[in-house]
Amino acid sequence: MGTSQRDREVREPVLVCGAGPVGLVTALLLARWGVPSTVLEAASERDASGSRAICLQRDVLEVFDRIGCAAPMLAEGITWSVGRTFYRGHELFATTYSDPGCSSLPPWINLSQCSTERYLLNAVEANPLVDLRFDHRVVALTQDRAGVEVATGGGRRLRASQVVAADGARGAVRRLLGVGFPGHSFADQFLIADIRVELPFPHERRFHFDPEWNPGRQVLVHEQPDSVWRIDWQVPTDYNLAAERASGALDARIRRIVGERPYEIVWLSVYRFHERVADEFRVGRVFLAGDAAHLFAPFGARGLNSGVQDAENLTWKLAAVHHGWVSGHDAERLLDSYSQERRPAALENLRVTNATMQFLVPQDEAARARRREVLQRAVHDTDSRELIDSGKLAEPYWYLDSPLTTPHPSAAHFPTAPGMSRPPVPGVLCPDAPCLVPGRPGVTRLRQLFGAGFVVLAARSSSSRPGIGIPVTSYALAAIDPAGAVRRALRATADSVHLVRPDGHLAAVLPSPDAAALTAALRRACGQDPPGGNE
Ligand SMILES: Cc1cc2nc3c(=O)[nH]c(=O)nc-3n(C[C@H](O)[C@H](O)[C@H](O)COP(=O)(O)OP(=O)(O)OC[C@H]3O[C@@H](n4cnc5c(N)ncnc54)[C@H](O)[C@@H]3O)c2cc1C
Repeated sequence: MGTSQRDREVREPVLVCGAGPVGLVTALLLARWGVPSTVLEAASERDASGSRAICLQRDVLEVFDRIGCAAPMLAEGITWSVGRTFYRGHELFATTYSDPGCSSLPPWINLSQCSTERYLLNAVEANPLVDLRFDHRVVALTQDRAGVEVATGGGRRLRASQVVAADGARGAVRRLLGVGFPGHSFADQFLIADIRVELPFPHERRFHFDPEWNPGRQVLVHEQPDSVWRIDWQVPTDYNLAAERASGALDARIRRIVGERPYEIVWLSVYRFHERVADEFRVGRVFLAGDAAHLFAPFGARGLNSGVQDAENLTWKLAAVHHGWVSGHDAERLLDSYSQERRPAALENLRVTNATMQFLVPQDEAARARRREVLQRAVHDTDSRELIDSGKLAEPYWYLDSPLTTPHPSAAHFPTAPGMSRPPVPGVLCPDAPCLVPGRPGVTRLRQLFGAGFVVLAARSSSSRPGIGIPVTSYALAAIDPAGAVRRALRATADSVHLVRPDGHLAAVLPSPDAAALTAALRRACGQDPPGGNE
């Protein structure tokens, strides 16, 4: 790559298509790295109606914290940590979402997607590095060795070094690139309503199979701020909302749950759900993220949550290229790792949510009979409760097989089932734990140290500074971990060294403080050839 092209790449903003939650988070994370972006949004203004995603997961709140948006979300959101599953009034089991890492962030909050987007937009509007343009629908895109050109409706043309397509499931970019979006769409329908009403239920996720108020089907009830309840009914495939509304049957349906209490419908929609993952997440200079790249049924809250993790994974890599910290083949390898890491994450989400949908909406009579039998047996037989799938909630993926991760022997037998606690091996999101950093009173937990470069955590501080371009900060556990909580969370030994990526994932766990091994792990984590040649 010539010097002038390199200079142009450094100067040009990244183009982000779509100002949904994933596009906005992408722009804010890029800005945190000092990278300017232009966000092109088809709509002429923010859509303040509609609700969609309500459940935000702890590790995603961590990302919101990094871009300065978590505080108002936490203040407004409903915090919860228990999900209960019922069958015909019997409580079958309760799942508690605990905190393995003593985080100060809750495992879950519920907040309407409108509020989430409003806080993100407020942050974008206050950020001089983000240029948000409504009424800019992307309609064409071409790319060559020098860059990408995007055309918007109205004939405007913009050039960029890279494009992040966060334009949602129906966006244009994936189609313009000719990338396939294989998968499955379910015929079954779900009526999803946000209803303002004073209900006596606790702050919990409550999933009902075959309740008396929706016989033979299921209902999910979940609280949002301001006494608004998300009620999600499975309805027949020929369900007609307009007809039900006109006949008064909708009011009767709602009254079966809320009784005679006064209520107000805040939002109401009928959905069919889809399970799809794009064939490619990177095509040259264009990267697909969020719903543009994957689409899941929402019973695991894996759509928005994993879209934010796409953005977190991609932005530090784009920043490393933008700032020239990596270049040439190394830059290509680092950017390729976005697909290599996030597509398997999407396929895992697809596997998990698809299994949930197979249980929730069995596709033939044999599967329906099996489901009935499992639910009936589960009332008395605790062992059969394991067969019930009322949704396996979002969690961060593990990049064990990524080319950026230094392999580690203890990664064998890694637990991959949903909801299990993951050991702190290379590839996993680094656990959180309380810590103290001399001179930085605002830092009270480990993960607050991440997000601005690589972090080295070693028993003692070392004077050696690995010579790579990207920022690296080293901390001595002896200095920041007086209570030993970080060491316990990391399962650190007296000599071990943990290398943490900017997105908080462990890149390497080295058995001893060996400067050459640390440099090799850092180079690998940046897509660079290890010292001494190709690998
Ligand atoms: C009922 C329901 C409940 C859900 N619950 C949850 C949940 O609890 N937790 C969770 O994590 N997820 C949940 N989801 C999924 C979540 O809503 C989506 O994953 C999330 O909105 C994806 O965000 P995004 O930014 O990728 O795409 P979108 O939100 O679709 O945003 C895309 C943006 O791109 C714009 N755009 C489209 N085309 C163009 C174009 N050509 N040019 C420029 N701009 C364009 C659109 O106007 C839009 O603003 C739920 C979804 C549904 C339907």
